[in-house]
Amino acid sequence: MTNSSLFAEAKRFIPGGVNSPVRAFRNVGGEPFFVSRAKGSHLWDIEGRELIDYVGTWGPAILGHAPDVVVEAVREAAMAGLSFGIPNPLEVEIARLICTWVPSVEKVRMVNSGTEATMSCIRLARGFTGRKLIVKFEGCYHGHVDSLLVKAGSGALTHGAPDSAGIPPELAQLTIAIPFNDPERLAETFQKFGQEIAGVIVEAVPANAGLFLPRPGFYEELRRLCDQHDTLLIFDEVMTGFRVAKGGYQELAKIKPDLTAMGKVIGGGLPVGAFGGRNEIMNLLSPDGPVYQAGTLSGNPLAMAAGLAQLRELERVDGWGKLEHIGQQLESGVRSVLGQLGRDYQFHRLGSMFCLFFTEKPVWSFADALQCDLTAFRKFFHGCLQRGVYFAPSQFETGFLCLMHSAADVDKTTDVIDRCLRLV
Ligand SMILES: *Cc1c(COP(=O)(O)O)cnc(C)c1O
Repeated sequence: MTNSSLFAEAKRFIPGGVNSPVRAFRNVGGEPFFVSRAKGSHLWDIEGRELIDYVGTWGPAILGHAPDVVVEAVREAAMAGLSFGIPNPLEVEIARLICTWVPSVEKVRMVNSGTEATMSCIRLARGFTGRKLIVKFEGCYHGHVDSLLVKAGSGALTHGAPDSAGIPPELAQLTIAIPFNDPERLAETFQKFGQEIAGVIVEAVPANAGLFLPRPGFYEELRRLCDQHDTLLIFDEVMTGFRVAKGGYQELAKIKPDLTAMGKVIGGGLPVGAFGGRNEIMNLLSPDGPVYQAGTLSGNPLAMAAGLAQLRELERVDGWGKLEHIGQQLESGVRSVLGQLGRDYQFHRLGSMFCLFFTEKPVWSFADALQCDLTAFRKFFHGCLQRGVYFAPSQFETGFLCLMHSAADVDKTTDVIDRCLRLV
């Protein structure tokens, strides 16, 4: 069986041959490969090809693929039962851990995906404030929630259709999308609609349209305006949570959001999301309060075991310090290649997250990211893949390092980047 023959088969039975659109390689052309096995920093496809992986299943694989501690925890949990639909002790353990690590979260509820987490946050914000409007930022992706698929990044962006068909305009009108890092537009928006805005949702670090950071002072201003207008500030830390620091990006930025959405790393590779915040707000959730939210498989024992094992291992080995070190190695390699080639492409990195923008202009927003040379990126991507290095199949995604990326992996990657940049 080849990748190509299996993809042809997949397309007969699965829309586009994939269960999530960005996997289809539409942004870079060609066809995806099928993975038969993954361990550490490497993937093997069904044709036996070995790749150094910088996608890390889009974020969760922070310890590397199939870490022994997580696999063992899942095996042990599975022996005791796959799902109970009534409380299990692991749910209390992970809730206590999250509330301890992320101080803005006083109570937390587990769900099954990042999408569910952000969806529940905005319902809760509306329930708490009795208001309708949600403000989001252009290029920020918060999952495929109807109200949040407005000027979203990630797959929605790649496909040139930021707004999805099937979303009533009446619903989209309740979402105001403004540019990131633009305090004037933010202030204007509050001036006009302040009394109607239930919540502002922001990717703690926008990482679904490449990777760009908040300008100094932007989040302080955002926090101040939210307080002034009794609007909830929602940090979407689905990607950054437990990855950039123990307490997420909010710990690094010293900003206290009212609600936080989590996912990816928290599940250790199983389908998990979570959302939490101040008691006063979380107490509005059913069964205590009037905001309904539920899930048959929420708090699933295998998923909780995987998440707990991954988070504890990260803490035990000081994962964040080690990842920063690996990140520095990659960054200095990439910067020296760029220097030698005389290319001023923008390289952004935050700990274990990185993005090479194919533009020489600074990137502070979605509009800036759109300046990239996508033809050059496409060639670069395929060149790297042919040489055994797998980056995300889109310019508008973030690369992920894991604890298993070795110095040899990074050296080989830097060398491949050098050769492939010469092709474009
Ligand atoms: C991945 C992601 C989501 C959606 O999570 P899913 O588990 O794919 O539903 C939401 N927000 C951000 C910032 C993400 O990166």
